[in-house]
Amino acid sequence: MGRFSSRWSPYSAATAFFEEQAAVNLCLLETKYISDITGTGMRSHYCGGINESHIDQEVTLCGWVHRRRDHGGVIFLDLRDRDGLSQVVVDPDTPESFALAEKVRSEFVVKVTGRVRRRPAGTENNNMPTGQVELLGKELEILNAAATPPFPLDEHVDVGEDVRLRYRFVDLRRPEMINRLRFRSRITSYIRNYLDANGFMDVETPILTRATPEGARDYLVPSRTHQGSFFALPQSPQLFKQLLMVSGVDRYYQIAKCFRDEDLRADRQPEFTQVDIEASFIDEASLMALNEDMIRSLFKDVLEVDLPEFPRMPYAEAMERFGSDKPDLRIPLELVDVGDLVESVDFKVFAGPAIDPKGRVAALRVPKGGDLTRKQIDDYTKFVGIYGAKGLAYIKVNDLSAGVEGLQSPIVKFLGDDIAMAIMERVGAEDGDIVFFGADKATVVNEALGALRVKLGHDLGMLTSEWAPLWVVDFPMFEETPDGGLTAIHHPFTAPSCTPEELEANPAGSLSRAYDMVLNGTELGGGSIRIHDETMQETVFRILGIGDEEAREKFGFLLDALKFGCPPHGGLAFGLDRLVMLMTGSSSIRDVIAFPKTQSATCLMTQAPGEVDEKQLRELNIRLRKSAKQAEGNKADGE
Ligand code: ASP
Repeated sequence: MGRFSSRWSPYSAATAFFEEQAAVNLCLLETKYISDITGTGMRSHYCGGINESHIDQEVTLCGWVHRRRDHGGVIFLDLRDRDGLSQVVVDPDTPESFALAEKVRSEFVVKVTGRVRRRPAGTENNNMPTGQVELLGKELEILNAAATPPFPLDEHVDVGEDVRLRYRFVDLRRPEMINRLRFRSRITSYIRNYLDANGFMDVETPILTRATPEGARDYLVPSRTHQGSFFALPQSPQLFKQLLMVSGVDRYYQIAKCFRDEDLRADRQPEFTQVDIEASFIDEASLMALNEDMIRSLFKDVLEVDLPEFPRMPYAEAMERFGSDKPDLRIPLELVDVGDLVESVDFKVFAGPAIDPKGRVAALRVPKGGDLTRKQIDDYTKFVGIYGAKGLAYIKVNDLSAGVEGLQSPIVKFLGDDIAMAIMERVGAEDGDIVFFGADKATVVNEALGALRVKLGHDLGMLTSEWAPLWVVDFPMFEETPDGGLTAIHHPFTAPSCTPEELEANPAGSLSRAYDMVLNGTELGGGSIRIHDETMQETVFRILGIGDEEAREKFGFLLDALKFGCPPHGGLAFGLDRLVMLMTGSSSIRDVIAFPKTQSATCLMTQAPGEVDEKQLRELNIRLRKSAKQAEGNKADGE
């Protein structure tokens, strides 16, 4: 059977797309081919590394059978490894190999030796890096058979995430997945090189430790040798890195696993990775400059992207203009305060929050948003409801020259003509705009309008650039808890910008020396200059309601260290998973982690967490209370 007529037909558009994607991603990475590295093992080249320069050479490839096409006279195997695909042709001139090739199925592991040749004219595939050549397989060896995979890998099909996570080892074979891991490795190696070159020392800190307060719940590990006592897994290496500064390490980094037992949101994992950094005898300006340079040069090196210089924005300004301490500056929409204009209107929904010291009334003008339909506005009203907003007032600006007559809104009559027009002037309204309002506690308004701003920006295609980084600075030292107490915004080891006396006199109004790096509305990293003075640390503990005894018990080692010559120091930590997610344009943090947990903090592959046997529990002197399941069973039995 003529090979030319039939060889294209089984080559689906989906497969072409899949390979094209892989090729695009791969071209960003410098690939070391097997022939360039020490210890070539069973093969001479990676499948993705064959090209015209290898024509007429004999090579040996190993990998997984991505697709097998039997065209009667010849068998085509697309052989895949982490570097890509190569087309192998096996024909009946080599009867033994041909017989084996007839047996192979998808995902069989094989080794093929043969000669590289140019693909016949008209059969090249320009979307594949190896698409100009093929391997005429002489010796084929099946290294291992494979059961039918739980989902097909040779097409770009939508597979449920649960199945992908259960068979993660198969899922990771897909080029887009393995490329993300490769990309991640490239990022960590760039960062390591950068920090090494700048005098930072990679030091490991303990995983079995005491609670390190970052504001989340701890994962606890029972001690067998000290029954009734527990280790906590680190929420971050915070205290250890500070102690390393006391030790004179001077510049530390670690790519560190951190553990936080939180109710998971979409972009959180119970264990995640930080690029953790600390340095001594340095101020915030130098720390920010160094880290900004690292991120900019990383983007340049890995993505060929020139990030602009990072502007600095005080926290108060970010909240006022964007309702968020991690504003997405790609979106050209801003919140504008109008509380002073509506203090005395007869419309309690606005006047109430306007006179409440903890309230806020803000407007969000959306240029050309007047076309939004009733249904769209209803959907946005539901959307802000997620953030606690009780409604979403709006004014459509039809014709400003007609005064209030030109405004279309259920609320204008409550505001009165003058005030409605004054608001229009304040927000800079133009014909065709829509102006949304938030009026509530400031926290609700900021969250609701802040999120709406981002959603509108995306929905209406308003993004002004691909990347918008910034530093947010001048954070308050503390924020109020719902019960009226204070909690540290960053963590209790962050230095305030004032003296202990000033801090004690006005804790709620004091600023800290903390800074966050934000990119496209995501917090990439955050840190601070730390307290290096014992009196200051004790003052902060006192303000947080941590008594002397508790402070001694929990942080005695830190207070001791501050006594024994602690240098001024500071640092920060980047969330590596989020950084990789942003840089790869992935939609889920799970896609950039080899073995992630589900949103309910389980591993579908290993079935962790799992039960332990009675003997292990006894060794730990632990007896389980009735499990939820047992309790329910007993209830059903009439207990
Ligand atoms: N330990 C902090 C955190 O995990 C980062 C830092 O202050 O360096 O957010």
